[in-house]
Amino acid sequence: MTKKKTDPRSSRGQTKKTTPKKKKPVVAFLSLSGCEGCSFAMLDLGGDFFNALVHHYKLGEHHFLEEMKGKKHYDITFVDGAPLTKENEKALKKMRERTDYMVAVGSCAALGVVPGIKNYVDKKKKAKYVYPKNKKAYNPDIHPISRYVKVDLVIPGCPIDNKEFLKVFTDVAQGIEPELSHRPVCYECQSNGNPCLLQQGEPCLGPVIQGGCNAVCLNSRYYCRGCRGILEGDTMDDAVKTLNKKLEKMIGKRALRHILQIYGIQEDWLNRL
Ligand code: SF4
Ligand code: SF4
Ligand code: SF4
Repeated sequence: MTKKKTDPRSSRGQTKKTTPKKKKPVVAFLSLSGCEGCSFAMLDLGGDFFNALVHHYKLGEHHFLEEMKGKKHYDITFVDGAPLTKENEKALKKMRERTDYMVAVGSCAALGVVPGIKNYVDKKKKAKYVYPKNKKAYNPDIHPISRYVKVDLVIPGCPIDNKEFLKVFTDVAQGIEPELSHRPVCYECQSNGNPCLLQQGEPCLGPVIQGGCNAVCLNSRYYCRGCRGILEGDTMDDAVKTLNKKLEKMIGKRALRHILQIYGIQEDWLNRL
């Protein structure tokens, strides 16, 4: 009987090679000035958030865990809040230098939104009212974080939709390009069977606002004020023009401007008229 030759390429009897484990990305969470609503929306996910964090990431730093020492480099950083102070601006720029991929979380970071309302008023007068004894209070216009640093991805919303956040959170950790909704709020509103406020003669910005929030306001019969920003794309210009005409007739120019100022979309809106 001839002895069976062993194939040197066979794995039998050799040390089994395994595919090298992919390193988990190191993640940081940075919170600038805001109401912390977006941070709490993440924490509201409870176990789902922590499981995703432990499963997909190595935690580098989190603003709620002050005792954590920061790292020199992060793969991904999630930033919420808007830059209101010089310290905020510095922290944001410093973080950008240390991170490969930056995500703006929530409309304060994405649009400047609620703190940005002061852009539309007499800032000096307001500062005097709020800080009567401090004449040197830093009082800049409020801008999205993209005005200061490069932003790789935006998750809009005031606050963010936490289910949408969780999906994006797990996708980016795996290098998957996250898909955010490209449909207007009306799509989810009608899918949820809500009566259309606009058709009933009440204002609503839904037709031109980026969906993905499950039309949460409309589900409670509050009109959409546009916290997720205007949908991208040239076709939106005509849609904004049509809606602007309708709303100005319905509630007047001044009232419409006030609505557009709540979430900082006035400039974008006017540019499309
Ligand atoms: S986007 Fe809204 S919920 Fe989030 S921090 Fe700003 S104000 Fe708060
Ligand atoms: S209520 Fe607003 S969001 Fe809903 S369908 Fe009408 S316009 Fe669109
Ligand atoms: S319905 Fe409009 S205002 Fe309400 S969460 Fe959605 S985008 Fe924001």
